Amino acid sequence: MQISFDVIVIGAGPAGYSSAIRCAQLGLKTACIDNWSDDKGRSSPGGTYLNAGCVASLALLESAKIYHALNHNLKAHGILTEAVSIDIALMMQRKNNIVGVLSRQIADSFAKHNIDFIQAEAKLLNGQQIAITPTNQSTASILEAKHIILATGSSPIDLHGAPIDNEFIIDSTMALNLDAVPKRLAIIGAGVIGLELAGIWNRLGSETILLEAQESFLSLTDQQISLEAYRIYTEQGLDLRLGARVISAKKANKKVTVEYQDSDGTHTLHVDKLIVASGRRPNTENLAADEADLLLDENGYVHVDENCRTNLPGVYAIGDLTLLGPMIAHKGMEEGLFVAEQIAGIRNPINYDLLPSVVFTDPEIAWVGQTEQGLRAMGEPIKIGTFSLNATARAHAISQTEGMVKIITHADTDVILGVHIIGTQASEMIAEAVLAMEFSASSEDLARTIHAHPTLAKALHGAAVALKNHK
Ligand code: NAD
Repeated sequence: MQISFDVIVIGAGPAGYSSAIRCAQLGLKTACIDNWSDDKGRSSPGGTYLNAGCVASLALLESAKIYHALNHNLKAHGILTEAVSIDIALMMQRKNNIVGVLSRQIADSFAKHNIDFIQAEAKLLNGQQIAITPTNQSTASILEAKHIILATGSSPIDLHGAPIDNEFIIDSTMALNLDAVPKRLAIIGAGVIGLELAGIWNRLGSETILLEAQESFLSLTDQQISLEAYRIYTEQGLDLRLGARVISAKKANKKVTVEYQDSDGTHTLHVDKLIVASGRRPNTENLAADEADLLLDENGYVHVDENCRTNLPGVYAIGDLTLLGPMIAHKGMEEGLFVAEQIAGIRNPINYDLLPSVVFTDPEIAWVGQTEQGLRAMGEPIKIGTFSLNATARAHAISQTEGMVKIITHADTDVILGVHIIGTQASEMIAEAVLAMEFSASSEDLARTIHAHPTLAKALHGAAVALKNHK
């Protein structure tokens, strides 16, 4: 058998492109296969995260924040504007340009590292072979490699009862490509995606109703932070209905009729658009031929060991395909590097306990480590320090005083066990907390570290000082 490549990576999302580039840097002859096309049919490496997820969403959120500020917040700055209007086509064009630039950077990096990047549909045939069908062709060819890395990501879950029609009932991808601002919008699911989309369209003027089946809000988040988030988002105008399970949605007279149940019974809503954001599933449907015998679980996740190895020797799975950690871009990127290095004989295990989580709403939510409710359930002796953004000069200067920082430490050792932030720039502030925890810092270490003043990071410092002054 002639081996064409050392490594073939299937998928060029954050997990796949990071892995392919690291493989090439380590001297491995690498190919990366990806089937994403832009609206002109051109390849667009970057996966969901870039094309229809975080980046696209953040680009639109920025436009929405500016529009909202022009309409609501500028008077306080002494800036007066005439009537402000939206050109949604231009807004989408800016977002698409950002996606295009970043996607080309990935393609350039592939070229710089001599990675064979092929726009095609790939299917695993066995531990060393894949069939590829280039986009717009029907004939497949076979590629071979000593190692194959599966990184095909995930897709929105279809919700029985609310079938996507791509016009009135849409998924999260389409929700980032609307050509008009819906007057009345409902979103199924107040998870990360539902909240991020709600923040965009609500700021652009949609009356936005979130229907969430669970009674609790953001149940994986520290409860004090999720309560604060609920208060802030509802004050901003989101209509957040908890314990509201959608049972059906139908198009009628250019509107959508949504039926949901809560503890008071069944209710009906009429909206202009309905976004289904009820979770994602791994893209494994056509990933492997039956005879490849790739082991999946009952929900379609690829079965892997702690080293991202599948049941097939030489075949790895990373990113959203596995249950090793949450579906977040940086988890996939870390796994991409980890597997590339493993193939090259280097072992740098991932500390899954210190993966930061971020909800890119406004204000943002970010956390690392354990929650207060989790630690209390385990009976751990803990101490808590909090600091409000309202007590920092910088937050006042930028009129972003909502939110807080919370640090949880072990009561006996003072070692930091969890850091939870809600507030503007929480996604940036959490990096310091992750670093501190990577080095097993105590809250005193953080309190004794000099922070520039006035900065938002002073709120993190303030929470550490609050713990120190406890003693
Ligand atoms: P999710 O699971 O976080 O939230 C979906 C929500 O929909 C759940 O709370 C669920 O209770 C609710 N739901 C399901 N069926 C319902 C029904 N019939 N009626 C009402 N509510 C219903 O899923 P998501 O928000 O789609 O995100 C998918 C994955 O992608 C998650 O793992 C998420 O962490 C990840 N993601 C992360 C980021 C980030 O890190 N910033 C961004 C986007 C997505």
